[in-house]
Amino acid sequence: MSGIAYAEVIGDPIAHSKSPLIHGFWLEALGLSGDYRRAHVRPDALATFIAERRDDPDWRGCNVTIPHKVAVMDLVDDPGDIRGTIGAMNTVVRQKDGTLIGTNTDAAGFYAPLAELDLEGAPVAVVGAGGAARAVLFALARANVGHVTILNRSPLKAMGLLATFGLKGDVVGLDAALPPVSLLVNSSSLGMTGQPPLDLDLSPLPEEAIVYDLVYSPLKTGLLKAAEARSLDTVDGLDMLIGQAALAFELFFGAPPPEGRDDELRALLVAA
Ligand code: NAP
Repeated sequence: MSGIAYAEVIGDPIAHSKSPLIHGFWLEALGLSGDYRRAHVRPDALATFIAERRDDPDWRGCNVTIPHKVAVMDLVDDPGDIRGTIGAMNTVVRQKDGTLIGTNTDAAGFYAPLAELDLEGAPVAVVGAGGAARAVLFALARANVGHVTILNRSPLKAMGLLATFGLKGDVVGLDAALPPVSLLVNSSSLGMTGQPPLDLDLSPLPEEAIVYDLVYSPLKTGLLKAAEARSLDTVDGLDMLIGQAALAFELFFGAPPPEGRDDELRALLVAA
């Protein structure tokens, strides 16, 4: 017997996830009868969970968050090129015949607010070398950016990422002076509620530079405040959060999210 189509977000912990709010908002706005849930899945239960869901014809797939983004790559039939590139999977989609395809929508979600810009050859700086940085660097490599400066606490990790993504650049510490880049991205946890602040002197940036902070809690980070004080263009973390969810939504439910409702959704996310 077939029930209501559903997708979900899985992780450990999972209570904090904003994905049910985003997908639920879009389902309601489009009048679709699907459902989007959250499921608390511990690491030792992941393989069984995925095997059970694979047999459920109503299950459209799931978003995957900490700590399952690497382990889940071994549990899908088609992981695409994710393993050798971003190295982490955030979306699993069930095909009608039960085969599971895995992808990562973070890179495209990150790039969506920059899509109108010509970044080819542009110098960029990226703070961080963790999971989010991998998605950012993957997208920047696809956009053929120029010199990439990575600022990170652990330099070796960052050097490995330049090589992985075939980028030309250098690695410096978090206390180094910024080069005059066209785009500065914070993909580290610095500036997030409960984490140390990200203290960067933005004065070397040219007037047309864009400052993009992936951190969305708080939404207006110290970095974005400093960029606004210099009248630089900014992009905040909710743009990427909504962008990566939009791609997953279409894969799960076969329709793109409604247009023109982002401001309403952003207000709900800020209030949540
Ligand atoms: P992660 O894999 O744990 O990486 C964290 C990064 O921050 C690493 O580069 C780490 O440096 C650095 N870092 C952490 N604490 C530090 C400290 N005390 N001093 C100096 N550096 C520190 O985390 P992630 O998954 O990449 O996430 C990073 C941030 O991006 C989080 O705030 C997350 O919420 C945000 N994010 C947002 C979106 C979105 O859709 N907007 C998507 C993904 C992630 P080391 O390399 O030296 O350890």
